[in-house]
Order: sequence, then C-alpha cells, then structure tokens
Amino acid sequence: MPLTGRILDNALDAVGNTPLIRLDKIAEREGLKCNLLGKVEYMSAGGSVKDRIAKRMVEAAEKEGKLIPGKSVVIEPTSGNTGIGLAMACAIKGYSVIITLPDKMSLEKEASLRALGAEVVRTPTAAAWDSPESHIGVAQRLRDSIPNAIILDQYRNVNNPLAHEYTTGPEIIEAVTSSNGSPRPSSGKVDVFVGGAGTGGTVTGISRAIKKTHNPAATVVAVDPKGSILAIPESLNDENRGGFYVVEGIGYDFIPDVLDRKDIDAWIKTGDEEAFVAARSLMREEGLLVGGSSGSALAGALKWLKSDEGKDISCTVGANVVVLLPDGIRNYMSKPWFLKMTMEAEQSTLAKQIKSILGPS
Ligand code: PMP
Repeated sequence: MPLTGRILDNALDAVGNTPLIRLDKIAEREGLKCNLLGKVEYMSAGGSVKDRIAKRMVEAAEKEGKLIPGKSVVIEPTSGNTGIGLAMACAIKGYSVIITLPDKMSLEKEASLRALGAEVVRTPTAAAWDSPESHIGVAQRLRDSIPNAIILDQYRNVNNPLAHEYTTGPEIIEAVTSSNGSPRPSSGKVDVFVGGAGTGGTVTGISRAIKKTHNPAATVVAVDPKGSILAIPESLNDENRGGFYVVEGIGYDFIPDVLDRKDIDAWIKTGDEEAFVAARSLMREEGLLVGGSSGSALAGALKWLKSDEGKDISCTVGANVVVLLPDGIRNYMSKPWFLKMTMEAEQSTLAKQIKSILGPS
C-alpha cells in the first residue's frame, strides 16, 4: 500500500513498501539486454530490509503473549540492521533492548541503535558462532541472567523468512506485473532474483513467494562473501575459507536454520573489492545511496549474468532480473572503504579545475 496520502499510526507503518527501480545505466554499460531492477530497501523506515523481520517477529511474539510492555527485555545477536529494526519497534511499543554486535560492524549502526534507546554490547568478530564469547553466545548468557529477557532469534524464527514471503516477495511481483503495458519490454514476470545471504531469510522467503505463487521456473541466485561457508557446492567456499571480509551483513560460519538451501538455484561468491566497486556504481551511476552488501548483490548478479547459466537471460530483451539492495550508506559513512571512495572524487577533472581556479586550499 502506498505510504503517502494517509496518516500512518507510527513509524512501523512505514516499514517496507520500497520501490523497485531500473538500473538502466549499469545494464547498458554492462551490455545487458534484460531489465536490471533494484529493490531499494534503505527507503524502509529503519533503513534496511531487516525492518520487515523485526516488525513481524515482535508482532508475532506479542500475539503469543511473550512480550510485556515496560517489563520485557528483547535481546538479539545481529550484524546491526535487525537490531535497528527491533530497537525501532521496541521504542514505539515500550520494550527494552540489548543488541550484541560483532566488533567489525560499523560505528554508525551502534549510534543508530543507541539513538533508538538500545544497549549495545560488542563481541569479538573472530569468535566462533557457538563460543560463549560470540554475539550469539553473549546474547544467550545475558538472556539466562536478566529477568523477563527474550531472544526472538532471527536465525531460527520462522517469521524471518515469512516476512519476506509475505511482504518483500509480493511487492516485487506486484511491481513487475503491474508494469505490464508500460512502453518498456517485459516478460511480465520475475525471471531471476538475486540477493545476499546472511541469516538467509531474505533469499529463502522471496524464493518461496516467487516460485509458489508467481513463476515456478524463476532462477533464484544467492550471494555469499568469500570467507563464509553458506554456498553450495561446498568447494565454492574454499577460497579464503574462514578468512576476514569487510562487507557487513552477509555470510556466516554456520548454516542458519532459516536458510533453506533447497530454495536456492545457484550460489555466487563475491569479494570485498568487487562489492565496493559495484556499490560505487550504484551511487555514481544510479544515484542510489546503498551500503556494501548491495554492492555484493549487484556484483553477484553481474557475475551470474555473465556465467554460462546466465548469459541467455542477459541477452533476452524484457527478461526481469531483480537485485535486492539491503541497506544504505548511512550505515557505513566512517568506514575506510567508503572514505577512500569519496576522497577519490577529489581527483576528478572538475576538482582539478576548481583547484586551478581557487588555488590549493
Ligand atoms: N545485507 C545487510 C546489510 C544485512 O544487514 C543483512 C542481514 N544480516 C543482509 C544483507 C542479509 O539478509 P538475511 O539475513 O535475510 O540473509
């Protein structure tokens, strides 16, 4: 439902309902004949795709009588965005929040969490998921000691994939099908969906929405960073296995329950550098202020479209390839990869011209 033209009850009503935007300049530069479309999730109220699951997990727990306003303490291990969604929902509804956040996650995410009233506990990024020191282990220890504490658990909660099966997926399908009749060629359906995997809730839920109700023949491509172990076949994970990567929000050292790899047709591995190059092209060419994992998703989509499996689609006029762009640059403005990218702008011809007119500053 459009968000304008009516009064919303609170910010949770402005979660989701994000635009599907053509990435025409990138498609043209890459020589693609298909439509390349970005689902732009930073336009959701809390700034990411994870607002949707936070809202659904809180509302489901309320229906089950598991949350008591003024008393309950919601604890969640997260790479940040689920935490921001939960902190937003809990600020509105009157629950306390503790977020356990690996060290590598940005200061901006911690600042947003604290702005929404959450407590933040940092944990060592290198701690294995099942160690007591990891973000998951620390959340469990706090839950066991704090009265009225609850972990909604995005890694196991069915409301994570369901939020995408019932909202993100149907929004994509509606946007694609209701654009039939526009002057731009279209197959009338979602032919390919590409998304990054962290918990895997996004790719699993959207795959189910597309394949169950819309186009069983669609191809769903999941993107996993080098260093993570989510991809299959297993051999794909050999490069930099267990190694560090900078991109936030995707990849894990265990397979979350909510990731159903049967729903995924192909896996693509991406590295940091190609992700940041792709994020920059989304900003510079398409004017979209996306975060790093959006770059991973686009880089993965382009790799798949150039692969043997994808090249027919890339040459098909009107085929619809949807790429999910999970969050925005607001989350990463102090990160070295972003600062490097913005400082490079100083080297532009226009910057040199400005210097020659005004002299060095
Ligand atoms: N990108 C970012 C920035 C995220 O925060 C997340 C959530 N961890 C994802 C991608 C992946 O989403 P999901 O957990 O649904 O796989």
